[in-house]
Amino acid sequence: MNELSPEARRAYELDRAHVFHSWSAQAELDPMVVTAAEGSYVWDGAGRRLLDFSSQLVNTNIGHQHPRVVEAIQAQAGRLCTVAPQHVNDQRSEAARLIAGLTPGDLDKVFFTNGGAEAVEYAVRMARLHTGRYKVLSAYRSYHGGTGTAVNITGDPRRWPNDYGSAGTVHFFGPFLYRSAFHSATPGEETARALEHLDQLVAFEGPDTIAAIVLESIPGTAGIMPPPPGYLAGVREIADRHGIAYIADEVMSGFGRAGRWFALEHDGVVPDMIAFAKGVNSGYVPLGGVAISERIAATFAHRPFPGGLTYSGHPLATAAAVATIEAMRDEKAVENAAHIGDTVLGPGLRELAERHPSVGDVRGTGVFWAVELVADRASKEPLAPYGGTSPAMGELVATCKKLGLLPFTNYHRLHAVPPCTITADEAREGLAVLDEALTVADRHTTG
Ligand code: PLP
Repeated sequence: MNELSPEARRAYELDRAHVFHSWSAQAELDPMVVTAAEGSYVWDGAGRRLLDFSSQLVNTNIGHQHPRVVEAIQAQAGRLCTVAPQHVNDQRSEAARLIAGLTPGDLDKVFFTNGGAEAVEYAVRMARLHTGRYKVLSAYRSYHGGTGTAVNITGDPRRWPNDYGSAGTVHFFGPFLYRSAFHSATPGEETARALEHLDQLVAFEGPDTIAAIVLESIPGTAGIMPPPPGYLAGVREIADRHGIAYIADEVMSGFGRAGRWFALEHDGVVPDMIAFAKGVNSGYVPLGGVAISERIAATFAHRPFPGGLTYSGHPLATAAAVATIEAMRDEKAVENAAHIGDTVLGPGLRELAERHPSVGDVRGTGVFWAVELVADRASKEPLAPYGGTSPAMGELVATCKKLGLLPFTNYHRLHAVPPCTITADEAREGLAVLDEALTVADRHTTG
């Protein structure tokens, strides 16, 4: 606290007096002040520069303060700050065209929201109305948002205190070879067994009662577990067999994060809807949405869609999306994310795993990597309990920050999730910090 500039200190004190924070015990918080950001870096309240290996909440895919996006927002603010959703707006139209061009298959209509949770809420509502069914299946080890339906679909401990009877949601185990629920030894076994499990769950829940399967194409906050080959295609097949809508949640995995515009391109599947947010405009102005297939959209051709938002397709947010997508295209940001993952982050993190006994597993793709920390490699006992934290994880985060790196952590995992635009040198700088910081975690492991 002492080192904060006077302006940062005032911001901090006002925050502690008046700001109510997400997912936290308010009196136990000591939040970091961020005063500025550029590219892959942020500056804290003491003027120290930190490499942003978190992309904030994994949303600044194009990096901080990209001049083309900032300019587009400024220009739009000078032209037209807001417009009701029932009117046509050029930025909303163009953003929808660009997004429809990036999504696979016939997902050619876009309903805009203010963020990811609303995108999931509306996708589920569309699926329920389209199918005339109620239940929704989703995975354990998932996060789909903090609002009513989205948090009930979520498969992590944040659901527990928010669960008032689950509202027709049923959870299943997705594939995760490192902690397989199916005792699998190979990716092929994991795909086959995870699909058999889902197939049985559908049969026992009653196929005719199930409106949707909601699935992160690569589960993000829950651990960045890229599904083994064939899994997403198998989910598509099960959904098709029973007339169930397949909603791909690409809120975190989309817009370049996984080295593709959408992570499901790794498996070549076409879902019925894609929920997106975050990377669509890097969060410069809040925006999310649902990309909708012809078939689902047709349900509402002559029947009003019973849903809406004052700010659906807000001009500042959609202008930011247009500029973001165009800049990412021109600068080959998605290709860069894939290249950095293949040549720097992937090999670098695997090399750290060889030398640090606290690292149980490293997995990911693009700029979407998880480092799983364990107290014991043989038993795979996590370095913090499920849903909790530990002194070891606290020390690890503090050391990263002290060494100039802002990490993303969740329970016993550290995620390396920098912007898609990160350079090879910046990625190496981050790996060097992690190398040093992991020695702290090593002290808490029995090897
Ligand atoms: N879905 C996924 C996969 C997410 O990672 C998130 C947020 O982290 C959400 C949905 C919710 O998005 P938002 O926080 O914008 O409501």
